[in-house]
Amino acid sequence: MKVKISLSLKLTLIVFILSAVAIISVTYVNVYNHERFFADANYDRATAIIHGINASIEDADNLNDIEYLENKTNYYLHQEEDILKITINLPDDEGNLIAAYSTDNESIGILSQGAENTDAYENENTWYILQNQKLTTITPIKIDDKIQGTYEVCLSVEDAYNSYNKRVTNTIAISVFSFFILIFGSILLLRRSIVKPILHFRKTARIFGKGNLDARVKIDSKDEIGDLAIAFNQMAKDLKESRDKIQDYNEILRNLLQQKDEFIGQLGHDLKNPLQPLVGLLPLLIDKEKDPEIKEDLIIMNQNAQYMRDLIFKTLQLAKLRSTNVQFDFENLNLNELVEEVIGAEKLGLKEKKIEIESRIDKKIVVNADKLRLAEVFKNLITNSVKYTPEGGGKITIDATQDKDVVTVSLQDTGIGMTEDQTKKVFDEFYKVKKDTSDYQSSGLGLAICKRIVEKHGGKIWVESPGPDKGSTFFFTLKSGDEK
Ligand code: ADP
Repeated sequence: MKVKISLSLKLTLIVFILSAVAIISVTYVNVYNHERFFADANYDRATAIIHGINASIEDADNLNDIEYLENKTNYYLHQEEDILKITINLPDDEGNLIAAYSTDNESIGILSQGAENTDAYENENTWYILQNQKLTTITPIKIDDKIQGTYEVCLSVEDAYNSYNKRVTNTIAISVFSFFILIFGSILLLRRSIVKPILHFRKTARIFGKGNLDARVKIDSKDEIGDLAIAFNQMAKDLKESRDKIQDYNEILRNLLQQKDEFIGQLGHDLKNPLQPLVGLLPLLIDKEKDPEIKEDLIIMNQNAQYMRDLIFKTLQLAKLRSTNVQFDFENLNLNELVEEVIGAEKLGLKEKKIEIESRIDKKIVVNADKLRLAEVFKNLITNSVKYTPEGGGKITIDATQDKDVVTVSLQDTGIGMTEDQTKKVFDEFYKVKKDTSDYQSSGLGLAICKRIVEKHGGKIWVESPGPDKGSTFFFTLKSGDEK
């Protein structure tokens, strides 16, 4: 699972890390500078004292004159409070450095820290040892270009250390304070300049998404977010204009479709009236006619007239179903009873083609539907199945399943079936798989009418087929009704 981290949190984290890095760097540099300052000041002082003593020792003999040394060293010892001791280390008979003289009597004769550190003696360098708040400076004693021993000055750096510590503590306190100020300041700034505008964008986009295309982003900052707001608002404006245009086109289209329906309706009525006597008269003429040739012509004329009447009837029916003021009489109907009635009416056609039909519909299923129109759907589907099933051995099975308040009806045949492409098109108006104009029984409107009726009932209709010659199954849904 991906954890969702809010933008605020991300920015806070970034600010936190950046501030921490900045503050730690600044603090480090500061503390380091204090330390350097502290060290340099003390080293310089120690070196200056040694230089003073060194300057007062004129020759090597002075080094063995204890009184002389005492005089010289005590002068410094009394002048500078923080000098703890001054020691002079000289090599003994075996060449080891030991404290020959020290302002601290207890140190005399033993290996002092400076005596131990023979590097100063051997390498002619000054050495500093900082330990336990004491700074020990060791410098070689050079008289007449010869190293005689080492000076050792031990300074107390306690005060300096304390003031150094205080300074470091202050620096850290200021750093921590600055750190929080920096964080709060940055977060406040980021919230104002980034997070808040983004939340505003999100809110506006949601309103926009719900269909209110008048929603606009109200940000006029002179930065990238301001540019984004301008782009967003422009997009919203363009989208609104496009939608308005589409709505205008839809309106035009609706008007055109209505005009078409009205035209078809009018044409239908105008054609139906003169056809009526023709369809009534032609069978009588066929009966009376003795000449077989003329009789055959009359039969063809009759088929044509009936086809036209059928086409006009269905076209009118479809136009009527499409009009907004068509009325449906919904009632609770026993589905099986209705299907059995339709089957009864279609017996002749079924018998002619020796097709068996069976309804397996549960006798308890009740649907809420317009009786005549639902019967029309079943009639169309059954006649189609009869039409598109070769003579002899065919079978039609009607069934229904109920799931809560939806009843799904199925009508399966063993007829010529259809391709997947055909299953998608058969409900289109005037669609016929065989574009055979001499087929007097086919108008290409039956399934379009079924679709309209089912949709007016709030349902869907579709067809499935395993392929050509493998039969077809038509499905449609209805709302279930209350049992009486
Ligand atoms: P019509 O049957 O009058 O041509 P329909 O709208 O009822 O018009 O059917 C459209 C087309 O769908 C038919 O021409 C036919 O090719 C195909 N069709 C309809 N029912 C079936 C069926 N049960 N089996 C195979 N094809 C069918």
